Amino acid sequence: MIVDIPTAADFYAAGLKQVHLAWQIAMQSLRDYDDATYYKLAYETPEEATADFWRRSQPLLANAYSLIQHGMELALKGRIAAVTPYLLIGDPKDWPNNAANGTASFGEFRTLDAVDLVKVHNSVIAPPLDNDFKVFWDQVRRDRNRIMHSAEPGTFTPAEVVKTILTAVDVLFHDIPWPRRLLQMEYESKFASLGFVDDAQNNVLFEIGSAIRQLTPAEAKRFFGFDNDLRGYVCPYCYFAANRDWQDEWPHLAQFTTKTPGATSLYCFVCERTTEVERAACLDEACKGDAIAEGICLTCTRLQ
Ligand SMILES: [Zn+2]
Ligand SMILES: [Zn+2]
Repeated sequence: MIVDIPTAADFYAAGLKQVHLAWQIAMQSLRDYDDATYYKLAYETPEEATADFWRRSQPLLANAYSLIQHGMELALKGRIAAVTPYLLIGDPKDWPNNAANGTASFGEFRTLDAVDLVKVHNSVIAPPLDNDFKVFWDQVRRDRNRIMHSAEPGTFTPAEVVKTILTAVDVLFHDIPWPRRLLQMEYESKFASLGFVDDAQNNVLFEIGSAIRQLTPAEAKRFFGFDNDLRGYVCPYCYFAANRDWQDEWPHLAQFTTKTPGATSLYCFVCERTTEVERAACLDEACKGDAIAEGICLTCTRLQ
C-alpha cells in the first residue's frame, strides 16, 4: 500500500513557498542595491560598479532562479495530483517492492521527470497549457540545469528573475492577485509572529515599485494592469496603511480608471481599492500634483 500521499493542495502550497522565496531573494538584492547606492547618487554610481555588484550577486540570483523552477515543478505536479497522484509515480516496474508487500511512502517513489510534466498535464487536464508556456518552461528547466550542472551557469539579471517569477505566477499561481498574496505573506511572515507587521504595506509597495522598474511597459500591463503611459499617484489607502515613520518616498502605483481629463476615480492594484479624489492643484507650487485625497497631495504626500 502506498502511504503519505501528498494532495494537490500540498504541492501547490509547497510550490508557492519556493516561488515566494525566490521573490524575496530578488527583492532583497534590489533593495540592497538601492540602499547601497542611495547616498552615492550625487556622485552617480559608475557603470562598472553596478555591473560588479550584480556579478557578485550571481550565486543569490542563480539560487532564486532554481527556486522558481522547483516551485513551478511542484505546481505542475499538484495539478496532476488533483487528477490522480498515482500518475506522478510513473511505471510500476520502478516501484519499490514494499508497496505491494507492506507499505511504501510516496516519497520513496521516483516521480515524473520535469521534462515530461507538461506532456502529462496536457494529456489529462483541460484546458492544456499553451505553447508559450511550454517554451517558457523548457527555457527555465534548461537554465536551471545549467545552474546545477555547470561551474559557469551564465549571468542572471534581477530583471530576468523578476519576469520569470511573474510569468510563473501568472500561469500557475493566479488564484489571487500577486500583490494581495504578498500582503498576506507579509502578515503571516516570521516577523509577524514577533508582532512586526507595521511595515507590511511599505514592503509590498516597495517590492511592486521595484518590480515594475524591471519590466517592459507590456509586461507591467500584463502582470499588474499598470499603464506606463499614464501618470501614477500615491494610493491614499496604502499610504495610511503603511508605516510613515521612516519612509519619505512613495511609489506612485495608483492610476485613474479613465483617461478623461478631470477623472476622479483612482484605482490601486496593490490594495485593489478605488478612491474618489478631488482634482485640485497641490498647495506646494514646486509640485505638479493635481489630485488630493484624505488631506494629502497624492503626488508629493504633503498635507493640504
Ligand atoms: Zn492602495
Ligand atoms: Zn504635491
